[in-house]
Amino acid sequence: MKERAESHAPRPVSWRRKKSLRETLGLLLDSSGNQREYLVNVILAQAAPETGREPSLRSTRALCAAILEQLVSILRADPKPSSGKLLPFFKYLNHFPLDPDRETNAALSLIYPEGPSEEVRNLFFRLELFWLLNLMGDLESARPLRKELEPQVSLKRPRLYAIWLLSLARILQRRGQRLSFCSLWLNIICEYYRLDGPDTALYLVLRWIEMLNWGRDTALRKKVLHRFGARFRQRQDILSASLLWELFNQEHRHATPSEKMLYTRLLFRHPSNLLSVQQLQYLHFFAGNYLSAVKTSFVLSIREFKHSNYYLHKSWAYLQNLSHFLRDKLSAEEYANAMSYLQQLVVDLGSQISLQNNAYVETLHDNYATIKSLLRQVEELSITDNLTGLKNRRYMANNLYHAFQLAARHKVPVCLAILDIDFFKQVNDQFGHLAGDHILKGLARLLLASFRKSDVVIRYGGEEFLLILFDVSPQRMETLMQDLAHKVRNHRFTWQGDLIRITVSIGWTISLQPRLSHAILDDYIARIDDALYTAKNAGRDKVIRAQD
Ligand code: GH3
Ligand code: MG
Ligand code: MG
Repeated sequence: MKERAESHAPRPVSWRRKKSLRETLGLLLDSSGNQREYLVNVILAQAAPETGREPSLRSTRALCAAILEQLVSILRADPKPSSGKLLPFFKYLNHFPLDPDRETNAALSLIYPEGPSEEVRNLFFRLELFWLLNLMGDLESARPLRKELEPQVSLKRPRLYAIWLLSLARILQRRGQRLSFCSLWLNIICEYYRLDGPDTALYLVLRWIEMLNWGRDTALRKKVLHRFGARFRQRQDILSASLLWELFNQEHRHATPSEKMLYTRLLFRHPSNLLSVQQLQYLHFFAGNYLSAVKTSFVLSIREFKHSNYYLHKSWAYLQNLSHFLRDKLSAEEYANAMSYLQQLVVDLGSQISLQNNAYVETLHDNYATIKSLLRQVEELSITDNLTGLKNRRYMANNLYHAFQLAARHKVPVCLAILDIDFFKQVNDQFGHLAGDHILKGLARLLLASFRKSDVVIRYGGEEFLLILFDVSPQRMETLMQDLAHKVRNHRFTWQGDLIRITVSIGWTISLQPRLSHAILDDYIARIDDALYTAKNAGRDKVIRAQD
């Protein structure tokens, strides 16, 4: 509501020179106590001069963006070595509530290698709950917990304290206490920079970026993220995982699909526990969609979809774990409050499942259809004669036997005929080879027009054709063949003004075998060949039935 009223462009941060912000932040990182408080106030006062009231959302974003940009520049150039002791712990934040035995023990053993006391385990569970309630926006249930936890947490246990501080930042963000929010973040980053060095500070910068509501000013967010530079994307720790996720998670206008795919590939090289199951599911889903659009990556896309379905199951397991945890730790009333949040997660997951499966099935279907039609085309080409478009001998080898077998099984008679053009050499000699081709094409059309769709016409050799007719009596076959010879005899083929007439010789037979073998089929062909030879010898333009 409020945001819509602020239609002006973000007010530029009123630093006369960016340099002075950078210098102040540089001083701040090494400060402590009163000096730090003073410097934080200097930064906030200069950037948001209307003290006394909260700056607008858009000036808050502009302020944060300016601070974050400079912080990234300073920290990435910082020569101070990172102790990196704290950094590995932060991956657990992605998985709250942790599995009480395995993951909780692993997380706590980072803090207490000798084994945590029962008291510490309880504190950890309470902090997880505090974190989750704030994430869910249930500030009311979180309030008594805040009072309870405050005296128990301190920088002496910096990992547990980080859970506390980040939860507080979320509360300020939800309450719209923008200056306090910025101030807290500056303090968090200074503190952990001092404790653990620039890498941990940079990781926390990313958490700030993640928590800030960027609204329409996502271009500012992009600018900050790109300050990190390519070097940080190549690592394989929680810092690079968080950076790449933020880069990936940008709006499409800030990161093209192929850029996102690049980030995805880099993220897939990370250990999977550096990301939450929801993030992994989304990444694999994206990759599946992207790859399925690239037609050659069909197999890869299927693999990615499979992974994303796997992480959907994990998300469901996470949700159940979360529900158990909350039921365990909350009063009945508080749990009732959490229900709407849990229900929303279930609804989201449900729509993810249907979206994902639809996309999966559609991709599968699309690609299957494409591949099948390609295969069919290739197959067609391989069994089709170039010149006439009729089936060729390859078709015969693959299909004819099966057709015969089917016919034999159903006791359907099959007639087989061979047709050869008489004196075709003379046609070529007299009118040219192209004229000969023209005749062959014309004859093919004539043959196709003369028989039923279920009959098969094969170009068997140069000017020889094989005809297979199903379910025809011998009498009918004799008539059909005579009619065909008659039709060809009377057909007026024309080529470049010349009238060309041809005749054909035909030998045919009928299959009466109840069973079929390749040998029997070969025998049929040999017999109709003989019959054709007889027809030729008898003067051509004749139809001869083979001897049974
Ligand atoms: P007959 O069958 O009556 O004994 O005489 P014919 O002249 O037809 O005999 P033969 O089988 O010896 O000759 C077939 C000729 O068909 C030889 C060849 O030039 C011609 N031929 C074969 N394939 C093609 C083709 O694709 N195009 C053209 N134009 N001619 C072809
Ligand atoms: Mg011939
Ligand atoms: Mg011939």
